[in-house]
Amino acid sequence: MADQTKQQQLDAISATIIADKVTPELTQSATQLVFGTGNPDAAVVFVGEAPGKSEDLTGKPFVGASGKFLDEMLASVGLKRDDIYITNIVKYRPPDNRDPLPAEKKAFLPYLQAQLEVIAPKVLVTLGRHSGNIFLPDLQISRDHGQPKRIKLAFRDDPSRILEVVIMPLYHPAAALYNGGMRQTLIDDFSQIPELLDSHNQDNDK
Ligand code: URA
Repeated sequence: MADQTKQQQLDAISATIIADKVTPELTQSATQLVFGTGNPDAAVVFVGEAPGKSEDLTGKPFVGASGKFLDEMLASVGLKRDDIYITNIVKYRPPDNRDPLPAEKKAFLPYLQAQLEVIAPKVLVTLGRHSGNIFLPDLQISRDHGQPKRIKLAFRDDPSRILEVVIMPLYHPAAALYNGGMRQTLIDDFSQIPELLDSHNQDNDK
């Protein structure tokens, strides 16, 4: 495993999701797996909820309307898709874009954690309450959005190895897209991301 590049390790996780037949019902109703895209060496990973229609058709996360909004916010802080890695908790589109079920989120969690162990980001930006709740069980998105929190994730196969990440819980871009107040709040929260990345770089320089 260690001899493989990060991209090869991610490809292996993607193949395992298919081989493990995680959520057979979603697999049947969806067009394809939407695993994740971006830079496997990124210092920041974005985690959304589940693919929508455009993502289901293209196999890539956040390419529809909320993806365009996300791109605008990334550009506003000087980031491109190539600078980040982006994925969802649930990796097949739920029918009619319904919310992911608790059992679906639970089923995909080990694979999300495996992705994070490979990429080892310093900052994890959660988009919406579903992905925020995974890492911060007491999260109330209307209260806690925009407030970074440092957490420790133990590696699944070796709990003595710890991945320390700063979670930045944000509103989901789809929820904020057509709600002026929430949209501005999301843009304001988003503007903190470069500072979080800078403080990580300073930690590394010490
Ligand atoms: N919403 C999400 O949460 N994820 C996507 O990939 C697209 C829309």
